[in-house]
Amino acid sequence: MEVSEPESLDVERIRGDFPILEREFAGEQLVYLDNAATSQTPDRVVDAIADYYRTTNANVHRGLHQLSQEASIAYEDAHDRVADFVGADGREEVVFGKNTTEAMNTVAYAWGLAELGPGDEVVMTEMEHHAALVTWQQIAKKTGATVKYARVDDEGYLDMDHLRELVTDDTEMVSAVHVSNTLGTINPASEIADIAHDHDALCFIDGAQSVPHMPVDVKEMDADFFAFSGHKMCGPTGIGVLYGKEHLLEEMQPYLYGGMMIEKVTFEESTWHELPWKFEAGTPPISQGIALAEACDYLDEIGMENVQRHGEALAEYAYDRLSEFDDITILGPPGDDRAALVSFNLGNVHAHDASEILNDFAVAVRAGDHCTQPLHDKLGIPSSTRASFYIYNTEEEVDKLVEALDAARELFA
Ligand code: PLP
Repeated sequence: MEVSEPESLDVERIRGDFPILEREFAGEQLVYLDNAATSQTPDRVVDAIADYYRTTNANVHRGLHQLSQEASIAYEDAHDRVADFVGADGREEVVFGKNTTEAMNTVAYAWGLAELGPGDEVVMTEMEHHAALVTWQQIAKKTGATVKYARVDDEGYLDMDHLRELVTDDTEMVSAVHVSNTLGTINPASEIADIAHDHDALCFIDGAQSVPHMPVDVKEMDADFFAFSGHKMCGPTGIGVLYGKEHLLEEMQPYLYGGMMIEKVTFEESTWHELPWKFEAGTPPISQGIALAEACDYLDEIGMENVQRHGEALAEYAYDRLSEFDDITILGPPGDDRAALVSFNLGNVHAHDASEILNDFAVAVRAGDHCTQPLHDKLGIPSSTRASFYIYNTEEEVDKLVEALDAARELFA
């Protein structure tokens, strides 16, 4: 089979899909480098939301009128489209919710509360986002289970030997981030799933930073659960996805109860609707789900290999440029082995101060602990500044970041 080289992106054309990038602040054109927090939304995804409200808006799940039928079909089809995007078998395995955090909580409450008890262990990594870390921590407190953390080594990689040591026959769940939103480390998700399965444990992979940036196939990975958010992948806010293997979702009790998720209700008893609706109580994120399907089309047309190559090349360029300065400390693995983000600190300048100066140059970055406080504690720093890239960013924008950092350096010298 002929393997074709990934193409470089037509960034100029792509930028045209995102009018927000033309915004200026005090005469400076916006340089948006906060994509790991939320990516921008292309016109056609905005149009999908507007079109839905202009033409199809109604509550779903088969009201008898035509509009509701159409909204239901579009919403249900969106599950199939998203399932296809990540290689799931179909809509039964794809639960729509608010975000990655809600997906984590769904599994932690629906599966964790029922299955965990004293003596059981949940193994995470030191680079988990609070969405996983805090959630499993709380479920462990409620159930008497123990939480353990696989080490991050000095280079910012997950210590796989330590993970192998920690996962034992007492382990019930291994919950690991696919791509660290702070370090940019890309973890070997399928190897992590194998380690969990070797001990009859389940594996939850947090794909919030991987699905937007690289081809993902949950079946190939063999994750039992997998989660991601629409707003980091050209979709709208208010939509997140929980993938779960069908037999596991089938066995689990719902997390939220109410309308839409039931089959039959009497004063004594209720039974649950089929998958995935059993986990989608109440009126679901209809327009957001439909718009997420549009975002999947948009990204697939660009090609996820191309998306990945562009983001990682920019991260490497940023890594190299920032490495030119002795007073800049970069977190995480080498430039040629990281996802589309670079977190760093400039001397002793607090990340909040640095990002305020960058803001004066209309360079938008994130400053803080990026919801990885324990990781920052381990690194002995209160915070870091994070530049994160997407399909519309350019090397010139990285240069502008570096220039703006010069100004911060001068100011705080
Ligand atoms: N996991 C990771 C790795 C993230 O980067 C984020 C968001 O930054 C989340 C989980 C939580 O995503 P959300 O806020 O959309 O629930």
